[in-house]
Amino acid sequence: MKIAMIGTGYVGLVSGACFADFGHEVVCVDKDELKIKRLLKNEIPIYEPGLDVLVAGNQTVGRLSFTTDLPSAVKGADAVFIAVGTPSRRGDGHADLSYVYAAAEEVAKAADGYVVVVTKSTVPVCTGDEVERIVREARPDLKIDVASNPEFLREGSAIEDFKRPDRVVIGVENEKAREVMRLLYRPLFINETPLLFTRRRTAELTKYAANAFLATKISFINEIADLCEKTGADVQDVARGIGLDRRIGSKFLHAGPGFGGSCFPKDTLALVRTAEQFEAPTRIVEAVMQVNDARKGRMADRIIEACGGSLQGRTVAVLGVAFKPQTDDMREAPSIDIVGRLKAAGATVKAYDPAAMGEAKKIDAFAGVVWCNSSYEAMAGADALAILTEWNEFRALDLGRVRRLLTAPVIVDLRNIYTLEEMREKGFTYVSVGRPAVA
Ligand code: NAD
Repeated sequence: MKIAMIGTGYVGLVSGACFADFGHEVVCVDKDELKIKRLLKNEIPIYEPGLDVLVAGNQTVGRLSFTTDLPSAVKGADAVFIAVGTPSRRGDGHADLSYVYAAAEEVAKAADGYVVVVTKSTVPVCTGDEVERIVREARPDLKIDVASNPEFLREGSAIEDFKRPDRVVIGVENEKAREVMRLLYRPLFINETPLLFTRRRTAELTKYAANAFLATKISFINEIADLCEKTGADVQDVARGIGLDRRIGSKFLHAGPGFGGSCFPKDTLALVRTAEQFEAPTRIVEAVMQVNDARKGRMADRIIEACGGSLQGRTVAVLGVAFKPQTDDMREAPSIDIVGRLKAAGATVKAYDPAAMGEAKKIDAFAGVVWCNSSYEAMAGADALAILTEWNEFRALDLGRVRRLLTAPVIVDLRNIYTLEEMREKGFTYVSVGRPAVA
């Protein structure tokens, strides 16, 4: 089948490359000329493991191509996916749908026959109705169906998530669109992926409900972590103790500095706004956001306290700035708040991240940060070490070397990647999350 993918970001590029790998003929479109130029040379503009090989392989055999020319990509396509950004709208927190609507109109104008316009971007419930209206108004002469196919992939394991998803959710309003969507995802029948067909509004809301639920698990365990700290309990054991209950599940129960990234913060906020608009408030999600927002500042205080209450003239080594490992995505990363506060408290910050430093350098909050080429370079001469992202390479640091490089043996581990025993044994002052401090 022929597919056009509008928007070649984290979702569009991965989805386009994976659909091509399934055997479909895919043209990826973006307005960003530089991005397309690089992709034509098989250069990947984002950090995503395995994507380079997938793009190069499929581009070489001619199943995957890239262009800035939207009309040429849309002509003859069976389905056109809209995978453009839906950031928070400045001022009110609703999802900004202007990119989606603009793309829908461009697609409709370029269409030359029956086509299914599929919204892959995360969009509030009922957006498909408006996309349909735009499309019909632009092309009253054509039959165009509008479907919803929200994406659940995670950055860092995006290819595996796309190719072996827990489920695919597809919202359609008629049989014809359903059949096109079924054919597109037929390659997934082999591994018996559940294809959940629903009405369009249901599919749209499913995406927000999923993200809000996952965010709820995170804020929940973070509050339990706070209670653990006050009472001497250990949140790791509490999480295991509840996670082994299959009704609860062990995923997303890691206490830490709060959720960030390009999805949870904006999607929880957009859900709250949509719910207000429809007079069906989501109080739990409102609380989840408040808990998360308050948390980031408290994490910076934790580092300041571990350094004796003042950072004037002190240097803090920061390991990891991305919102999670295996990505260079810095959108809403907790490190932005935390590093900003450390600097405001007078600290010099030396930082290292295996993939996200290029993106971080573009963010004002990191101005003045001394960027380093390795963990150990960041630690040299620092007065404390703060671990903000659980990249694998931070999990097995040479602790003897760490002690020698730091002026004081102080580690604040906001991801709980070390055990209390090894920290005690090596003589560190060790502050983590939801566990007793090692003094
Ligand atoms: P992104 O910002 O990385 O990419 C969006 C791309 O769309 C950009 O390259 C931009 O230049 C391009 N674009 C915008 N308007 C265009 C137009 N009219 N024509 C052609 N190109 C256009 O965004 P993303 O992270 O890939 O997210 C896309 C959507 O998917 C969002 O709604 C997001 O919420 C959702 N989503 C993201 C993830 C994730 O992990 N990043 C996961 C699931 C869902």
